[in-house]
Amino acid sequence: MAYDVIIIGGGPGGYKAAEHAAHAGLSVCLFEHRAIGGVCLNEGCIPSKALLYSAKLYDYAKGGSAKYGVTCDNARLDYPAAVERKDKVVKTLVGGIEASLKAHKITIIRNTAAIEGKNLDGFVVSGETARNLIIAAGSEPIIPPIKHADTCLTNREILALTEVPETLAVIGGGVIGLEMVSLFNSAGSKVTVYEALDKIGGSLDRELSTMLQRIYEKRGVTFKLGAAVSDAGELGASKVLMSVGRRAVTRGLGLESLNVYVERGAVVTDAQTRTNVPNVYAIGDVNGKSMLAHTAYREAEVAVNTILGKNDAVNYATIPSVVYTNPEAASVGLTLDAALTAGYRAVERKLSMRYSGRFVAENEGGDGLCKLVINEPDGVLLGAHMLGNPVSEVISTAAVALERRMTVKQLSEVTFPHPSVAEIIKETCLA
Ligand code: NAD
Repeated sequence: MAYDVIIIGGGPGGYKAAEHAAHAGLSVCLFEHRAIGGVCLNEGCIPSKALLYSAKLYDYAKGGSAKYGVTCDNARLDYPAAVERKDKVVKTLVGGIEASLKAHKITIIRNTAAIEGKNLDGFVVSGETARNLIIAAGSEPIIPPIKHADTCLTNREILALTEVPETLAVIGGGVIGLEMVSLFNSAGSKVTVYEALDKIGGSLDRELSTMLQRIYEKRGVTFKLGAAVSDAGELGASKVLMSVGRRAVTRGLGLESLNVYVERGAVVTDAQTRTNVPNVYAIGDVNGKSMLAHTAYREAEVAVNTILGKNDAVNYATIPSVVYTNPEAASVGLTLDAALTAGYRAVERKLSMRYSGRFVAENEGGDGLCKLVINEPDGVLLGAHMLGNPVSEVISTAAVALERRMTVKQLSEVTFPHPSVAEIIKETCLA
């Protein structure tokens, strides 16, 4: 029997595509050779958030809450207990997805999938056949050719540590690096970050990235910028994290048997997630477009809708991104620099987070920033960039405005709940 769809990979892209396709009445076969949930659920987004939450509570307990009139004596971080809870969170969520896949009557094959080619019934993958193929094989950490790279931890091993290292060196001050800086700085490690560029946070707005760096410097983190590490063994730390980026997993899938086009290590796709081969789609990190779980979710919807003959497309320009430090940083759309480079007559409006009453009530002594990038001729919002808690939640409002091409005037006419941190968006529109 030929399935309607075979999906390779059970991470956020793969399991979402499987659920969506099955919900629409398609027969689905999903291959996963590690754990359902992929990197995000098992060794990325979710376990890191669980541990970061423990770290945040510990920050409050060991003194942070005193500013709010709450003192706590002899605060102690029981790191193994935090890790145990993290594992429980992962188990619960993975179990939930497995149950949902089962309820959707999806065939799960817990084996490595290899594309063998095409016959009259469709694509053949490890003996199974389907009319459509969705590749959602994800990504893996880049291990650069530097000395002693084999002694470094990646996201997988660092999240599995059961004790807090005395000293931690972080190679790469991007998203993974910064989240682990935040976690282990709170947990008590002496952390040093080595970043090849002259700023941390990757594509994060420079002003926000500098503010974030200053906040962590005050907490004792050392940042070495313009420092391209060539020998991990020279850093003299008890543990070294390698977080210099990720690359798509394309080798070993048998893509060459169908002549699927791969460029710079990633499967080439269009806005419908189609590859160069009809009825073959690639979603999530494997297409290298935007290595974020929520991008994979959206691409999963679009891939399945395209299979179903519905018009749909991923709008890569309106995908928000968040760095889960404390405070959080979040962005959507263009920075002012990017907008000017792209030829917009762009301007920026910015406001301290302290213009939000709710922010002041809940962030004693804290500061942050909301920046809106606006196309001057018509007032259309081009981007939003924020630092402060909880901007991971607030950024969705800006993403909706961007997706709907709203002007700042239209956005300022929306009634926001008061008091809420999201009001900062409206205030910045009016600034
Ligand atoms: P990244 O691309 O965000 O950052 C890597 C950093 O390493 C860059 O700033 C780069 O300049 C630096 N670097 C490279 N080689 C170096 C060297 N030899 N010495 C010093 N610095 C060096 O990569 P990442 O943090 O590993 O994250 C990987 C992917 O995972 C990203 O695509 C990211 O979007 C995704 N991710 C997202 C989140 C989130 O959205 N919250 C969290 C974790 C991971």
